[in-house]
Amino acid sequence: MVVLDGNALAGVLTDTLGADPTTVVLRCAGCGTLGELARTRVHVSPMGSVARCRGCDTVLVTVVETPGRRWVGLPGTRAVSTD
Ligand SMILES: [Zn+2]
Repeated sequence: MVVLDGNALAGVLTDTLGADPTTVVLRCAGCGTLGELARTRVHVSPMGSVARCRGCDTVLVTVVETPGRRWVGLPGTRAVSTD
């Protein structure tokens, strides 16, 4: 096993999310459903955005904008996949 820093994942993550991340497939940690990000139900508020699973309402993605920084969480996403 080789231990590297996070730069080792830059290419893979860029390839996975790509130019159109709405086609990325997420596996819900709550119910195991697979679905494209574009098909989630997104709640938008002044505090940020939350994408929920259509199958069980688990929070899959959170996006919070703060001054000078964007925070993206995947609290209910077990895995991310692309074709
Ligand atoms: Zn679910």
